[in-house]
Amino acid sequence: MKKILSISTKSRPELIDITEKVRSAVSASSIKEGLCCIYVPHTTAGVTINEGADPSVKLDILASLNKLVPFDGDYHHGEGNSAAHIKATLVGTSAICLIEDGKPALGTWQAIFFCEFDGPRTRNITIKIV
Ligand code: ZN
Repeated sequence: MKKILSISTKSRPELIDITEKVRSAVSASSIKEGLCCIYVPHTTAGVTINEGADPSVKLDILASLNKLVPFDGDYHHGEGNSAAHIKATLVGTSAICLIEDGKPALGTWQAIFFCEFDGPRTRNITIKIV
């Protein structure tokens, strides 16, 4: 089963918690045991699984990525968004979680985050459940 989520981001860099949307997709699939792949078909966005309980964690992740890869730098790419491409490569474009008892088997503190690095834009996220 495949589902495409469309989301509108609001900031240039932004982490958006999509855990509930993934849970809904898994639930709608009726698959009790399997794999859920969350795939981002963009070159300046990604996906990661990390702590969702304390909202300051995502702020620290974004701030640290910005420190590591500043928006302005001595980049070659003429579009002016090299930092976003590099950050997308660092976090990756896919995440996989196990499905157990019809639910994503996430750890207690884990959440699934869509990572926008060149917003605001409308983005697609492909969820494949097998
Ligand atoms: Zn570019």
